[in-house]
Amino acid sequence: MPTQIQVMNRYVPGDPVVGAAITFDHDNEDAKTPRTAANGFVTVSTEGLSDGNHVVRITPRYTSDLQVGPDIAEDLAVSVTRMFRLLEVGIAVLKGKVQAVNSLPGQQSRGTVAAGTNPVRVLLQPMYHRSPHQNPNFRTHEKITLIAVHQTAGSTNIGGTLTWFENQQANPNDNVSSNYVISAEANPQVVKVVQDTSRAWHAGGPGQTWWGEADVNNFAIGIELSHKAKTPWPDAQIGALIGLLEMLLNAYPSIKPHRIVGHTDVLLIDRDCPGLEFDWAALEKFGLGMVPNGGAISLDDAYGGFFAYDQPVTCGKTTATPCASGAAATHGRHLRPSRAPSSIR
Ligand SMILES: [Zn+2]
Repeated sequence: MPTQIQVMNRYVPGDPVVGAAITFDHDNEDAKTPRTAANGFVTVSTEGLSDGNHVVRITPRYTSDLQVGPDIAEDLAVSVTRMFRLLEVGIAVLKGKVQAVNSLPGQQSRGTVAAGTNPVRVLLQPMYHRSPHQNPNFRTHEKITLIAVHQTAGSTNIGGTLTWFENQQANPNDNVSSNYVISAEANPQVVKVVQDTSRAWHAGGPGQTWWGEADVNNFAIGIELSHKAKTPWPDAQIGALIGLLEMLLNAYPSIKPHRIVGHTDVLLIDRDCPGLEFDWAALEKFGLGMVPNGGAISLDDAYGGFFAYDQPVTCGKTTATPCASGAAATHGRHLRPSRAPSSIR
């Protein structure tokens, strides 16, 4: 009897993988190869399979074996909104019928197969999950000169973050995105959301400046880390961030290693991102971020006085309402630990 296979996004419930090819035992794809429909389902013929174990390969229409970073998804058209990992799963067949499914060794970062034999339910690891909240084809690689690190703060549900970045929000000011998101899993995964040459919306409006340069989104790559505020940072997630940062610095020499900053560093409003607990020291061990040369520095003078206490700080997105406590204290906080008064939220 025919077998149904359902292929879905591992992070986003209800998000089907469309157009994935299903082949058995390393057969090549051809014109007759079944592909998943718009709902992620496909019917395959298992009658001809011999009794015993077989391998089902699920090949997404857009996929890559490369790590998620500057080398993936950059050449995709605007109409392409998803890339997933290719996954192989094992099935046991008796008299043409699937009796059991099982995960194969070394595939865990590519996806999973759930219990059940008809349909066989497969969840694929997303690599690229396009956000419409962006300005596509906005800049050349040479124009990328800064990386801003963020935390989601609310929860570690990366599927919720991808959905938020994809959906239109009731308030247009909330139509945000970043170029990358890193999951908080034990084996953290990176998902690209906006191509590096496109402008993601992660670091505020034209008023947000870095070192005199207005509108940080124009020249920054945004990396969002799935992380609940005020909880410890997993070493593995920081490691995944460092790996992505090194890939980006290699790809884009226009980003100098000291130009890796926290959202708070460029945001002169009252927000704490990626949070006071963020492990800047781990990054600095790899020469990433801003490492003061020769120990102590005076931040009132360094960086053109950008981190001085009297830097104008506002408490609203549009007005210059003074905000003396929270924002002034968080701005540049990671360079001056003593700066955090107990009033910081
Ligand atoms: Zn942020």
